[in-house]
Amino acid sequence: MAKSSENELPHKCFGWAAKDSSGILSPFHFSRRENGPNDVAIKILFCGVCHSDVHSVKNDWGFTTYPVVPGHEIVGIVTKTGENVKKFKVGDRVGVGVIVESCKECDICQQDLECYCSKLVFTYNSPYYDGTRTQGGFSDFVVVHERFVLQFPDNLPLDAGAPLLCAGITVYSPMIYYGMTEPGKLMGVAGLGGLGHVAVKFAKAFGLKVTVISNSPNKESDAIERLGADSFILSTDTATLKAAIRTMDYIIDTIPSDHSLNSLLSLLKPNGKLITVGLLNKPLELTTFPLVMGRKLIGGSTLGGLKETQDMLDFCGKHSIVADIELIKIDQINTAIERIVNSDVKYRFVVDVANSLSTTS
Ligand SMILES: [Zn+2]
Ligand SMILES: [Zn+2]
Repeated sequence: MAKSSENELPHKCFGWAAKDSSGILSPFHFSRRENGPNDVAIKILFCGVCHSDVHSVKNDWGFTTYPVVPGHEIVGIVTKTGENVKKFKVGDRVGVGVIVESCKECDICQQDLECYCSKLVFTYNSPYYDGTRTQGGFSDFVVVHERFVLQFPDNLPLDAGAPLLCAGITVYSPMIYYGMTEPGKLMGVAGLGGLGHVAVKFAKAFGLKVTVISNSPNKESDAIERLGADSFILSTDTATLKAAIRTMDYIIDTIPSDHSLNSLLSLLKPNGKLITVGLLNKPLELTTFPLVMGRKLIGGSTLGGLKETQDMLDFCGKHSIVADIELIKIDQINTAIERIVNSDVKYRFVVDVANSLSTTS
């Protein structure tokens, strides 16, 4: 099939990249692959700042290739569609999350679980099938295969909705898969950050009771008054912890740093489920007594497939769920990263890409 000459040219892009493990971002010119027949080109309007972006730019996980343009909570407007694209048209409001490609043929992909495909390609810092490297959403536009593009609900604001593409699906998917949605059950949300605060909103929308477990006493009023949680446990308060032993049906563990699983397990009723979604560098402490004696389950989960991610966005549209955000300009990104490291954000930074990027080129 002949391609137009326009399509054969790599697209010139502009974004902000980290150039080394200092993790400091600065302006960066690069190119993206051409818009192929199954691809959608998207003008990026907003992009959330995820804790994974911080780990990636600082090479905390040891596999960052520089320069890297982070950002995988991307929302924008379709500007071009390839000839085979069926789901989208120019002008659509769309989102792109953490992955932009998978093999599409393996058992896992056939089950719409692309996020568990062994050949998945991340939105940035990943080798693409054509030999180029992917770059993320702190940039003017992106080119993505239509399977990995999501329709954004009309009634949701794009800026506050952006974090749903990573934080949202990361907590929604385990709730569905592990059956943590039965109305009236009690779910603990451990850690009240970008992921945890969205988990509280999902849980309330499903009709659950919610207890937030956090080591920050100043999060109690937010948990209850701002986010609608039913109760709050300060994880350093042993008396309150003791009173909550065997009260919870499920716990979703979003704590991004070292912590013990034993005290969380003790909060579960028999047959309870503790699902962890954090990616920690160190092993966590776990003794088997509370696990075995209560027939409890510990599970893990990452993201969700594209079909489930669309289901999640539609659920958010129906229940008017978005993240609580601080909107920033691209030249505030380095300060934002330091504030994320210090847990000083309520509850997600989102970069106003379209309105702030061009002034820095
Ligand atoms: Zn993320
Ligand atoms: Zn696959």
